[in-house]
Amino acid sequence: MSNAPVPDVGGWFRTATSGVALPATAWGPGAGGFGRVSHDDDLAAAADLFRGRPTLVLTGAGMSTGSGLPDYRGRDAVPRSPMTYQEFVGSDLSRRRYWARSTVGWRWFVHARPNEAHRALAALGGLTPVTGVVTQNVDGLHQAAGSAPVVDLHGNLSRVVCLDCRALSDRHALQEDLLALNPGFADRLVDLAEDSRNAPDGDAEVDRTEDFRYPPCRRCGGMLKPDVVFFGENADRSVVDRAKGLFGEAEALLVLGSSLSVMSGLRFVRRAVQQGKDVVILNDGATRGDDLATLRLHGRLEHVLTRWVEDLA
Ligand SMILES: [Zn+2]
Repeated sequence: MSNAPVPDVGGWFRTATSGVALPATAWGPGAGGFGRVSHDDDLAAAADLFRGRPTLVLTGAGMSTGSGLPDYRGRDAVPRSPMTYQEFVGSDLSRRRYWARSTVGWRWFVHARPNEAHRALAALGGLTPVTGVVTQNVDGLHQAAGSAPVVDLHGNLSRVVCLDCRALSDRHALQEDLLALNPGFADRLVDLAEDSRNAPDGDAEVDRTEDFRYPPCRRCGGMLKPDVVFFGENADRSVVDRAKGLFGEAEALLVLGSSLSVMSGLRFVRRAVQQGKDVVILNDGATRGDDLATLRLHGRLEHVLTRWVEDLA
């Protein structure tokens, strides 16, 4: 298993918006500010700020790049246009394309493991009262590292939802069905993955999938969708309420690895400021919340988090 990023898998990681469909490139790598490292004193000040205080942690894609998963707004990001919810539900061809890319990418995705940053954050939860981790990621790696509770604000790729009967099912099981329905495709997964990584958006062989087949819901015959929030789709109300509950218990908000480009994340920062809660933002590169932060920190997540674990131990 190499550390090369997984192939682009048809919008998997480009989810979310709470109804506000920002263009994929609206807050892209051009935002800049990469590679800075905060002074030791600032990192220590942050540890003092949430030492012993209930803190909610909000995480984004930067958290998982160390696990080989792509960050579409990070340092090496290639702007791509995301598949919207409307495209997915409105077009059989779009669904064929989505599931074809998803079938290719899944093989790599299932091998992604928590990295040092995930593990350090889980350890931090044992040293200071973290009320919870609210993540914009859909990879389940916080749970795998042992953080709890975790709210998957934008869903989780390991689940599939039926848009008709709302039944949830296991993405692993669906993979078996997808491979069985597309036997020739299954034989060429490795080549297709390599190609999809290198070809421009929409130009990969995996996108020529007019004959790719995907199954309906086993229970009702309805339309299956990965249980993640697409662009143009609202986050699930009960999930948002759980996140708000954890936020309400917190006196401080720690943002890790997110450019806060989607409203579902930025909203927490704005609300924290309104309620007089301290906000610490640690991200490589500029964020939309920079002007709102009590402390704005720079550096690699795994380094800073490991240092905080040592500070608070
Ligand atoms: Zn169904």
